[in-house]
Amino acid sequence: MAEPTATFDDVLPEALRFRSPAPLVDIGANLTHESFGRDLEAVIQRARAAHVDTLILTGTDREHAEQAVALARQYPGLFATAGVHPHDASGWTPELARAMAALHREPEVVAVGECGLDFNRNFSTPAEQERAFEAQLGLAAESGLPVFIHERDAGRRMLEILHAWRDDLSQAVVHCFTGERDTLYGYRDLDLHIGLTGWLCDERRGHHLRELVREIPLNRLMVETDCPYLLPRNLPAKLKGRRHEPALLPWIVREIAHWRGLDEQALAEATTATAREFFRLPTDAAD
Ligand SMILES: [Zn+2]
Repeated sequence: MAEPTATFDDVLPEALRFRSPAPLVDIGANLTHESFGRDLEAVIQRARAAHVDTLILTGTDREHAEQAVALARQYPGLFATAGVHPHDASGWTPELARAMAALHREPEVVAVGECGLDFNRNFSTPAEQERAFEAQLGLAAESGLPVFIHERDAGRRMLEILHAWRDDLSQAVVHCFTGERDTLYGYRDLDLHIGLTGWLCDERRGHHLRELVREIPLNRLMVETDCPYLLPRNLPAKLKGRRHEPALLPWIVREIAHWRGLDEQALAEATTATAREFFRLPTDAAD
């Protein structure tokens, strides 16, 4: 009598059913990804059970941003961003800019993005990426919304561009920060926020981040899964399908707290307060 969709309990093994000691905000959840198409309701329920009360759904192109807005209308505690990812920057047009500006006026949309530069893969050329990114910074300046930024192997150019734009922007977060110390201090000088994922749970490539975590001001630090990507590599049990989800955020917070020399509750409370202020979330957003 197998059900076609997963139920609340049958995905996460007991050892992965975490509960944060304080409510959390996952500032980067790609819940419009096709991998969540079949059991989204259960994913959201598991997030709540883990005390991850608020989810900011990443809108990476027009279609996904519209889907994210629709979900945010449907479920309390969900919000959306609307932008065009650097991978898709080659498709930037004036018409798309108008569609994005309209999305930014929706009450469910709390940030412009995900937008930025990704010179790691260059699915769009660097010139196309810069054009689409600066256009979106212009939309952020017009709307007053904060910016949700993606930067991969493009720290130097990112700093140059943001330096020119910073005075016109309210706030900006560099999500899934994986950069080096110089870049971090450049972002600090521009008073940017930093989003951390489970990258530092990866003993192969997260080492430098473990040391840098202490150098991110507590009131500029936010946390995210970037699910379904970036499943933490050091989870205490195997996860079938290896799809990351918001319910696992408490594990990442625990890990960051450890490397930052803080207790888990203090870090949870601080990052949630920062995220509520950054995204200007309504005070009744938590259930
Ligand atoms: Zn990203």
